[in-house]
Amino acid sequence: MFNQRDPTSALIRDLQAVVGKSYVVHAPEDLLVYEYDCSIDREHPSIVVLPGNSEEVAAVLKLAARAGMPVTPRGAGTGISGGAIPVGRGMVVALTRMTRILDLDPVNRIAVVEPGVINLDVTKAAAQHGLFYAPDPSSQKACCIGGNIAENSGGAHCLAYGLTTNHVLAIEVALPDGDVVWLGDPTGLEPGYDLRGVFIGSEGTLGIVTKAVLRLLPAPETVTTLLAVFDQTDYASAAVSAVIAAGIVPAAVEMMDRLAIQAVEASLHAGYPKDAAAVLLIELEGLRETVAEQAQAVAAICEVQNARAVEVAQSAEQRERLWAGRKGVAGAFGSIAPNYYILDGVAPRTKLPEVLRRVEEIAARYEFPVANVLHAGDGNLHPCILFDDRVPGADRRVLEAGMEIMRVCIDAGGALTGEHGVGIEKQDCMAWVFSEDDLAAMAKLRPAFGADAKFNPGKVFPGARGEWEGSTGARRIMERALAAGAYI
Ligand SMILES: Cc1cc2nc3c(=O)[nH]c(=O)nc-3n(C[C@H](O)[C@H](O)[C@H](O)COP(=O)(O)OP(=O)(O)OC[C@H]3O[C@@H](n4cnc5c(N)ncnc54)[C@H](O)[C@@H]3O)c2cc1C
Repeated sequence: MFNQRDPTSALIRDLQAVVGKSYVVHAPEDLLVYEYDCSIDREHPSIVVLPGNSEEVAAVLKLAARAGMPVTPRGAGTGISGGAIPVGRGMVVALTRMTRILDLDPVNRIAVVEPGVINLDVTKAAAQHGLFYAPDPSSQKACCIGGNIAENSGGAHCLAYGLTTNHVLAIEVALPDGDVVWLGDPTGLEPGYDLRGVFIGSEGTLGIVTKAVLRLLPAPETVTTLLAVFDQTDYASAAVSAVIAAGIVPAAVEMMDRLAIQAVEASLHAGYPKDAAAVLLIELEGLRETVAEQAQAVAAICEVQNARAVEVAQSAEQRERLWAGRKGVAGAFGSIAPNYYILDGVAPRTKLPEVLRRVEEIAARYEFPVANVLHAGDGNLHPCILFDDRVPGADRRVLEAGMEIMRVCIDAGGALTGEHGVGIEKQDCMAWVFSEDDLAAMAKLRPAFGADAKFNPGKVFPGARGEWEGSTGARRIMERALAAGAYI
């Protein structure tokens, strides 16, 4: 609990002594930029601290624990489920100063990095040794490794390579009480409980990643990218299932529908046909001969599934342009609508046509346009509902439409999140897929890591945000503190 007898200014001084004066942000106007991530939610933090190394993170957590301050870890703030939003206000610990690649060992194919390292910078550094870091969220130019670990992030190429958890061998973690421990082992062969695996995907609720040992892979001998164009989204969905059913596992199979294509072409000019109902971006990687054979097979399958054209990128420049369209699609929505709400559901691949039809129906009923972007190979769909939050009630209706869409994914046998996490956004849907016993078992993990409800409060568990903001929650505690003259 926030200790009203401990003047927060003393806390500020103590924090400044640990990290330096410039790295404790407390002026209200400076705190504004930390209110947001890329979700719809927002909350003004009481204070933001930017530590520069593991020891400083540990010392900051000790001070927060002593002051009873809620703590929310934050990377680049690109999260889409609200994980970095400081529900209940309190302290945001931003890891964006910790951007060093501490070691890059091409022989053992590992990189040791700090949590604020940008995802793409790992591959850029590894490329000189012919290596790369496989997890590639579309936000990879901005998001940090610490955030990726917290969310167990995926990306276009995770169809073949797996998610973040498959590429993080060990992590150094500052626990909520300030103890620093290593979980996992650089060999990937540590005996005992896989606490590394437990931590990855825990959405910043168990501690703060302060270092990570990442697995690097040899760059493939060759890469071929195909663009398959369809006049119906059903045809594109059927082609995805047919490719996988033929025993081919491309490195990536991405799908975009008509509205997504139009948004991309209006601003990024990636070279997608504007009149197509859907395009598939299919990437094959590996040995030259195998990739050539697979490219022919994939093109033939797409044609059987009614592709009106299949184009193979002829140069690295064309390939990059095709991918820039896909990776920039979220930003491109700004050219066709003031706001968008991006969902993250999963459905079995074979049910994608039916699920996409239901998405369309729901959006039409709420009178919103919807654009669909999919990591189609693993059935991960991102319906993007376009809206204008200046229209009264639009934000509420968009959330309702989103919940209906999530329900459709679950009813189709899918999952609540493919990669964006539960956070604030989907906490109340957790009860759709987990029993009370399941949730109670998950909740027991937090005390095992020394985390109580104040560590990244208001996340993941059904009703968690309400508890913090309700009449008995942190909001009331904070308001009492404010009334008593405390700085919050
Ligand atoms: C345009 C766009 C495209 C995206 N595409 C993808 C995609 O393809 N795949 C995908 O998986 N995601 C995607 N995302 C979502 C987002 O980029 C990822 O979830 C990313 O991993 C978040 O990283 P971040 O550094 O921005 O974390 P933040 O948003 O700052 O935080 C996310 C969560 O991680 C926690 N956290 C942050 N740092 C640490 C740390 N060091 N230790 C412990 N917890 C920490 C926070 O508390 C929070 O719960 C996309 C987002 C955008 C805006």
